[in-house]
Amino acid sequence: MQTADYIDLENVYGAHNYKPLDVVLCRGEGAWVWDVEGKRYLDCLSSYSAVNQGHCHPQIRQAMVDQAERLTLTSRAFRNDQLALFYRELCELTNSHKVLPMNSGAEAVETAIKIVRKWGYKVKGVPEDQAEIIVCQNNFHGRTISIVSFSTDPSSREGFGPFTPGFKIIPYGDAAALQGAITENTVAFLVEPIQGEAGVIIPPSGFLKQVREICTNNSVVLILDEIQTGLGRTGKMLAEAHDGIEADLTLIGKALSGGFYPVSAVLSNTEVMDVLQPGEHGSTFGGNPLACAVARAALRVLVEENMIENAATMGAYILEKLQQINTPFIKDVRGRGLLIALELTNDAGGARQYCEQLKDLGVLCKETHETIIRFAPPLVIGQEEADFMLGRVRQVFA
Ligand SMILES: *Cc1c(COP(=O)(O)O)cnc(C)c1O
Repeated sequence: MQTADYIDLENVYGAHNYKPLDVVLCRGEGAWVWDVEGKRYLDCLSSYSAVNQGHCHPQIRQAMVDQAERLTLTSRAFRNDQLALFYRELCELTNSHKVLPMNSGAEAVETAIKIVRKWGYKVKGVPEDQAEIIVCQNNFHGRTISIVSFSTDPSSREGFGPFTPGFKIIPYGDAAALQGAITENTVAFLVEPIQGEAGVIIPPSGFLKQVREICTNNSVVLILDEIQTGLGRTGKMLAEAHDGIEADLTLIGKALSGGFYPVSAVLSNTEVMDVLQPGEHGSTFGGNPLACAVARAALRVLVEENMIENAATMGAYILEKLQQINTPFIKDVRGRGLLIALELTNDAGGARQYCEQLKDLGVLCKETHETIIRFAPPLVIGQEEADFMLGRVRQVFA
């Protein structure tokens, strides 16, 4: 079968909820992927930051194979010998007290919403069913009904009501708006340290520090959604470290599995997590031994192979070189670590066509909204690969 055959089949049998580039991949290694015609591409999306460790990392693969040969699923009705070690290693790496493991990012977000509501009723004393959670405009936290209930993106919401109540939306990066929105029923503020899907929107400096203070002073749980920014992507283990703060709840997913298997987690302080009692929340696959073994290896290689430091240095290098590209079509280049966006002017003709051209030149990236191209290669990218990418980007803007 050739590229066109796979695409035709997908169109016939699949739901049409995505609009992918027309490249059919069949193999990956490090920062590179190959299509069914044998052509090689540099992956500059990393599956939305789920493959920070590079494709098919040999040590994560080995951990997965070894564990798959021993034990894959016990459910949480019984214990397994990977979960406790996963908990400890994750807490030590992220300076957390408690972990609740789930599978997808959206499930981690849903879990956090449940936990902070319960905390609001049991600890803060909010009247039954009155809990409010504050979120930001242009947020992206996933696709479930409750999560799209507080999205401001029309295509995420239209046709999916009725929606879940209990959310208030403020502008992103506006600490005064947060202060103004808090009432005695506010239980949490849910925010991304950098808005990834919105187009790598970095808040004004000092915002997260102010947010931390406001939340502490008002007994509001600060939930940072680090599903995209976490685990080395921005050049730190967690993006919160750039601002020297610590969230009460931190959500991670995506790269927690190195791209092998869906694994997500809610990291929490003890006070908030302890509101959950047996039977009140769970997941058949959450915390299974295969997921735990994969995640342990994914975390280990991030640290042992200095991927986080590499994200900082290669990110700064790529950002600087992109900023030097001289064309009337680029409006802004911004980023932190290897989470970088190139925003085009309105008369550039849309980001999609540049992504198509880059694909033909061997660089895979994806537009987010009409005018923004995100560059987020695996954290294992080297100088030569960065220069390969930069050369192709210069070419499409020449
Ligand atoms: C991808 C993402 C999610 C959702 O994760 P899924 O695994 O797709 O459910 C939530 N929050 C942020 C910031 C994300 O980037």
